[in-house]
Amino acid sequence: MGFQPVSRAPDLESVPDGPSIWVFLRGDSLLSQDPAVLPLVTDGGGLYRMLARPVFTIGTLDGVPCHAVDLGDSGDAAGADEWCKRIAPWLGQSGKAVSFVTLRQVLLATAGDSPHWRAASCARHLAEWRRTSRYCGVCGTGLVMQQSDVSYVCPSCGQQWWPRVTPAVIVAVTDGERILLGHNVAFRPGLYAPFAGFVEPGESLEEACKREVHEESGVQITGLAYHASQHWPFPGSLMIAFTARYAGGTPRADGIELSEVRWFGRDEAPPGVPGPGGMGRSLYDWFMRGGGKDEGR
Ligand SMILES: [Zn+2]
Repeated sequence: MGFQPVSRAPDLESVPDGPSIWVFLRGDSLLSQDPAVLPLVTDGGGLYRMLARPVFTIGTLDGVPCHAVDLGDSGDAAGADEWCKRIAPWLGQSGKAVSFVTLRQVLLATAGDSPHWRAASCARHLAEWRRTSRYCGVCGTGLVMQQSDVSYVCPSCGQQWWPRVTPAVIVAVTDGERILLGHNVAFRPGLYAPFAGFVEPGESLEEACKREVHEESGVQITGLAYHASQHWPFPGSLMIAFTARYAGGTPRADGIELSEVRWFGRDEAPPGVPGPGGMGRSLYDWFMRGGGKDEGR
C-alpha cells in the first residue's frame, strides 16, 4: 500500500485512540528510534492530548493514519532531550532509546525509496510550508487553513496559497564509455556528481537541462531522456532526472559553482559519488550498469 499523501491538511481537533504513525519534527530533524522506520504509537489520542500542539495529518502509511507535529526549532539541544523524554514512553521506549536524527540520515537509512522516507519527506515539506505561510503576501492579513484541500486562504482578499514545489533538473551526460561529472565548490573533497539546478521561470524541463549543463560544464547535449523523479524536501523541491548524450564543446568548470569538470569511465570511479537515496546516485548507478553505453556519437 505504501504511503498515500493527504489531500487536505487542517490542524486536527482530535486524534482517534488507536494506532497511528508519527513524524515528530524539529526543523530538519525528526525524533527516531530507528532512522529507517517512523515510530508507531498505540495510543495516538493520548499522545495528542499530551503534546498540546498543532498536529496535522500527512496521509496513510500502509493504511495506518500518519500524523506530523512541529516541535519547534532544531537549535536547542536541551529542548530536544526534553521532547525525547516526554515522547519515548508513548513509543514503548525509554528516553535514551530515542533521539533526533537529520532528514539526511533518514534518507541514507531508507535509500530514499521506502514509504517511511516518503512520509517523512512529505511531513517536512508541509511543516515548512505551514511555518512560512502565516500572512497573505498580497495584503498582509493572517491566513486561514482551508478545510477542503491543502491550501491557505486570505479571509480579507480571498487569495489562496498552496504549498510551493520547486522543480529542479539533474542530468547525467554520457559519451558511450564515459560520464561527465562536476565537483561543486560546496561538495566535500573528491565528490563528483551529475549537473543540477533549478528550473527558471519561462523554461521547459528540456531547456533547463541544456542551460544548466552548458552553464556548469561548457558542453552541449542531445538525446535527452527522462530517467526518474523524486520529492526532495531540502526544503521543497521535485528533482527530475534526465540522461543525455554529449554533443560537443570542451568541458570546463564555471569556476563559480563548480571547480572541476571531468570525464570518468566505468573502470575509473571518482573518489566520491553522491550517497544512496538521491537522483545523483541513481543516475551514476544507471551509468555503471551500462547506461548510455551504445549511444556514443
Ligand atoms: Zn490577502
